[in-house]
Amino acid sequence: MADAPPGWYVSGLPHIWLPYNQMKTTPPPLAVARTHGSRIVLADGRELIDGIASWWTACHGYNHPAIRDAVRAQLDAMPHVMFGGLVHEPALTLARRLTALLPAGLDRVFFTDSGSVAVEVAMKMAVQYWLNRGERGRTRLLAFKGGYHGDTFATMAVCDPDEGMHSLFAGVLAEHPVIALPCTEESADAFDRFLEQHADTLAGILVEPLVQGAGGMLLHNAAVLRHLRRAADKYGLLLIFDEIFTGFGRTGTLFACEQAGVTPDIITLSKALTGGTMALAATVASHSVFEAFWSDDKLHALMHGPTYMANPLACAVANASLDLFAQQPRLAQVAAISAALVQGLAPCRGLPGVRDVRVLGAIGVVELDRIEALDALKARFVAAGVWVRPFRNIVYLTPALTIDADDLALLTRAVVTVLRADKK
Ligand code: PLP
Repeated sequence: MADAPPGWYVSGLPHIWLPYNQMKTTPPPLAVARTHGSRIVLADGRELIDGIASWWTACHGYNHPAIRDAVRAQLDAMPHVMFGGLVHEPALTLARRLTALLPAGLDRVFFTDSGSVAVEVAMKMAVQYWLNRGERGRTRLLAFKGGYHGDTFATMAVCDPDEGMHSLFAGVLAEHPVIALPCTEESADAFDRFLEQHADTLAGILVEPLVQGAGGMLLHNAAVLRHLRRAADKYGLLLIFDEIFTGFGRTGTLFACEQAGVTPDIITLSKALTGGTMALAATVASHSVFEAFWSDDKLHALMHGPTYMANPLACAVANASLDLFAQQPRLAQVAAISAALVQGLAPCRGLPGVRDVRVLGAIGVVELDRIEALDALKARFVAAGVWVRPFRNIVYLTPALTIDADDLALLTRAVVTVLRADKK
């Protein structure tokens, strides 16, 4: 720590390693004391309106009483118990409820504790599905440019190769083909040609349906997903939807796949699954995927089992979150947020350097030609009283689905004002 800036000691951070940050140059993070609703209260007393919902998890806002009650009740009964050889009601109930909410056919739930691991499990399922059927050459997943599926080694290999860490870890990451989504006639032709030539090397196709989130909030439409389903059916490939970001109302329907009328063979869920309170993820497989593992041969079992798999506290909270989706008008709230985002972000369209403004469900995006000084822009949002986290060349809002109209108006106004000042 010889050349550590004094601020690190002063603010009590000599031991923490922060995510996605060059520790030497990053500005010190803000200390948070409390949260409530759509508000983040800083240790110094300032209160920020939250435009991000803690990486898209806090769909009911922070500290929702029903979620807190569920944690308390489960804490008294059983905070955790291993899932190997033991099961419990919160997990069984959650699995039953998730399969009832998902499109028919997705009926086997494997719980894990983070989105990346849920995707790893989906990848493992897809590859082993073929191995169990005696096909050894199908070890690759077809993934898409602009995609993001996590930071672990297996998932890094299916992220966008330019934005992901492919070049840094060249030679270490597994090689999966990553091509353009079939959004245009040209890319659809290239996609079809790719499958004609290589489908027999593939286990499946992996995509974030309707919006590629961390890759830049890139939208595509339902027709693209139907194209993927048709192609997967044609070549017998498994179609995997990563709904870790899009699941639980974010795009306007409970799951994005509903808007395309497409049922994937495997779906991954996390983030808003617990209403933003506990770490939990699920990989849900269709009956036919599960069948490939159903055997007298022990080697055909799915060899995975994280220590905190199906943590009862997290499952109880997820059940409470599903109660809120059932009892409260969350999708109507998303529709209202969507309309407010369209209207509130519209003035950004005319600003110099703004390339695109787009909205899908409770996701509002302003894409710029470039952001020169990202840290300075972030600081200006904080100074404006909002928590907005621009990345790469986009400024986006993904507020809690419960945000009230006034707070949302303050958020969109802050985006317009800060970007306008930035472009002067
Ligand atoms: N998949 C998608 C679509 C995501 O957006 C993310 C996280 O942003 C992940 C996977 C990885 O989830 P986690 O950060 O919980 O590992």
